[in-house]
Amino acid sequence: MALYKHIGYLQQSNDAAFDKTYAPGATPDHSGIFRCLGCGREIVAEHSRSLPAQNHPQHTVQQGDIRWKLIVWPDHNPK
Ligand SMILES: [Zn+2]
Repeated sequence: MALYKHIGYLQQSNDAAFDKTYAPGATPDHSGIFRCLGCGREIVAEHSRSLPAQNHPQHTVQQGDIRWKLIVWPDHNPK
């Protein structure tokens, strides 16, 4: 679970970007913190780089495939 200290730096959003899942090796649409829906591992990824497929713990059958989902989307263009 991603942690934060100061809630004032985070804002809830219903943007569809948070609903999309990515396979290992896919290039995400946005930079941010991603969570594997199988095992809960969280990583920082850039939109210009592939999501990791290597160095990922082996999933159990119950955990299924590695599927990355955006959980924190940094604001690169603050108003
Ligand atoms: Zn995983």
